[in-house]
Amino acid sequence: MKTDFIELEKTIHDILAVPEYRDHPASKALKQLWEINQDQWDRMDRLTRLSDSYQDMMIQRERSLSERFDKHLRQLEKMTRISDRYQRSLRQLNIELEKTSLIDPLTELPNRRMMMKRLSQAFDEQLEDESQHGVRIENLTVAMIDIDYFKKVNDEFGHQVGDDVLIALGKLMEKAVDGHGIIGRWGGEEFLVILPCHNIKDASILMESLRAKVNAYSFKADDKTVSTSVSIGIASYQDKDTMDALLSRADNALYLAKSHGRNSVILG
Ligand code: GH3
Ligand code: MG
Ligand code: MG
Repeated sequence: MKTDFIELEKTIHDILAVPEYRDHPASKALKQLWEINQDQWDRMDRLTRLSDSYQDMMIQRERSLSERFDKHLRQLEKMTRISDRYQRSLRQLNIELEKTSLIDPLTELPNRRMMMKRLSQAFDEQLEDESQHGVRIENLTVAMIDIDYFKKVNDEFGHQVGDDVLIALGKLMEKAVDGHGIIGRWGGEEFLVILPCHNIKDASILMESLRAKVNAYSFKADDKTVSTSVSIGIASYQDKDTMDALLSRADNALYLAKSHGRNSVILG
């Protein structure tokens, strides 16, 4: 049975209040028991209050910690978003930079820098191939192309028309080389063709056809027609060649083509 403490308290209070029980030893003991009980209650009360305030404190602490954590998380998410966006634009900028540093802005063909890279790659492959199979008939071949009397085009039709002719010829020659190798603007009105796997005979047939296409082409500017031609020097990789040696053989062949009347292909 559950003790009704309020009822018990009242009963004890009533007993202790009766005057004839005042000096009775049981009354004294009861009083002491009563005081001990009161003391216990006070202690319990204090403990309960302590425990409540401790719990409040812990809840408060947890709340503030979680608020701080949420805030931190939000900041972190924001920073990640900014950093992602920044990295994306940086990557885009790099692609554009890479493109502009390797592409000739006028003709949109690979520029000299890119051609040097490609030639160096092709040369490495040639050396690797050579170390495995020895020098073969199908080798790295380069062709140096220079537009004939281009200064005259500028002088006669103006620099703008000269630019337009360079663009048009660039496209025409790119189409002629397509699938066989790559063509780039070497500088001014000079172009370089890299044919990674052509013997000199096949290369000269291809270059002869390119020369003929340029010769047959006429550029229309307003009511005027601009006709041009190109001189081409070809050189194929030879045993123990260097990149410079290969290029200068092509250059010398081009020089010969110029001195032999232009509009021709000479093998170096
Ligand atoms: P050759 O047959 O001996 O090669 O004669 P050429 O007149 O072509 O040779 P030269 O080297 O004397 O002149 C090249 C000209 O090409 C001079 C230069 O103004 C022109 N040129 C070079 N780059 C450009 C360009 O980007 N735009 C225009 N319009 N002209 C250019
Ligand atoms: Mg020139
Ligand atoms: Mg020229």
